[in-house]
Amino acid sequence: MPTRRSTSPPEDHRSAGGGHCQAVRPLPHIDRSSAMPDTTHVLVIGAGAAGAAAVRELAQHEEITTTAIIDTETTPYNRTLVNKAVATGLLEPHHAHLPVLSAPPVRDRVQAVDPQEQTVHLRSGARVDYDALIVATGSVPRALPPGITSPAALESGRVTHLHSLDDALRVRGVLDRTPSPRVLIYGAGFIGAETAGILRDAGCRVTLAASSPIPGATAFGAQVAGQLSQAHRDTVDTHFGHALTRLELVESELHAEFTDGRVIAADLAITALGTRPHSPSPWGGAIAVDSRLRSRDHENVYAAGGVAVHETDGTTWRIDHWSDAEAQGAHAARSVLASLGRADAPGPYRPRALYSAQIHQHLYLAAGHTGRFGNSRAFSTSPLVLTHDRAGRLVGVSGLDSGPDVMALVPRLHTSITPMLTAESDPSTHTP
Ligand SMILES: Cc1cc2nc3c(=O)[nH]c(=O)nc-3n(C[C@H](O)[C@H](O)[C@H](O)COP(=O)(O)OP(=O)(O)OC[C@H]3O[C@@H](n4cnc5c(N)ncnc54)[C@H](O)[C@@H]3O)c2cc1C
Repeated sequence: MPTRRSTSPPEDHRSAGGGHCQAVRPLPHIDRSSAMPDTTHVLVIGAGAAGAAAVRELAQHEEITTTAIIDTETTPYNRTLVNKAVATGLLEPHHAHLPVLSAPPVRDRVQAVDPQEQTVHLRSGARVDYDALIVATGSVPRALPPGITSPAALESGRVTHLHSLDDALRVRGVLDRTPSPRVLIYGAGFIGAETAGILRDAGCRVTLAASSPIPGATAFGAQVAGQLSQAHRDTVDTHFGHALTRLELVESELHAEFTDGRVIAADLAITALGTRPHSPSPWGGAIAVDSRLRSRDHENVYAAGGVAVHETDGTTWRIDHWSDAEAQGAHAARSVLASLGRADAPGPYRPRALYSAQIHQHLYLAAGHTGRFGNSRAFSTSPLVLTHDRAGRLVGVSGLDSGPDVMALVPRLHTSITPMLTAESDPSTHTP
């Protein structure tokens, strides 16, 4: 990677009013090439799972100046705790904050990146130059189609996503004010399915609704989704197979109308329709990366985590899970180091991180590619263990209530699937 010019983070930090972060005074342009000629400056936008992991990896190299730029409003936090603990009051928001970064971040919001000039434009008006940039800005929740939610319902504070600490506090507000609140969750992928059980255990009367008759197939695959649908039916009220058409505020309660004409009354509606990548201009969404997490379009730009869209042999894929985002962040940092001649090239990124969801009485555990990227096969049906293969290699493993079996297959990820296909001769009894 050619070092265009050397820059360092602004010295003139200013307390942002609490927390460990600092803000940078609005400066027209920050360029320290004359002051620190030998310093290579790596900028990391965002310090969630992927960004913090990238910063940790780069911090081991003193010859590199690493600056994280993090949103003004939020101290970076562990997003996985939003629905599991903060929404129900088990933890306070500050308990979810991530450990302090090794170097003080710039507390500002990146409005735009100029990849030609290798500079980022901050909301404060300042510009910061970079030699290499890692974008780790994550994802945002998918919204309901426009026109479904009435303005009064929107303003009531009773309709929310469950993606941020603010969302969690909104949910908590309704739970605190309302005895045995009626909660409608629309969408039964990871967040919707998991949150249904969490809020039910917290004393809410939960209705889980989804447009698909067997929801969750995209997130979990058809077989797991089938078993989970039954678990939902056994545990909470369900309304599957009908799309939401209208969400209105009638006096102080929400009325949710579906394509079959049914109206469900609720004190709170949580929309859980998955996520989409989120980044500043010029991308404004997904950043396409190669196997070393380098931007396919812009030199010296890398992306990791929920914002990154990968492509393998013509198939695009994106993984938005915590440990995988951490692994991508570290991998992107190693790619940067390799391009600077500071480390060996890390090779192609191959997902192998574990992720899980506790749904009612069931534990879903998976690792690697488990979506449409590969062919799914039942390795065992009792308990349910699925292998996912592509081009003759095991690329993912998943299972329901089969933690040890899934874990046993993880070391075999990205090796030949053939031995597992042979072992599959009696899939109902096989133990890996
Ligand atoms: C409710 C919930 C529960 C979840 N539970 C699990 C789970 O149990 N297991 C699991 O594996 N995954 C879970 N996930 C998914 C997991 O949290 C994400 O995959 C992970 O956080 C992605 O990491 P990331 O670094 O890409 O993005 P994030 O962790 O979201 O970090 C992105 C950071 O970038 C900052 N940022 C964005 N734009 C800008 C900008 N322009 N300027 C400066 N900073 C910016 C954001 O403020 C944020 O701090 C859950 C997600 C949610 C919403």
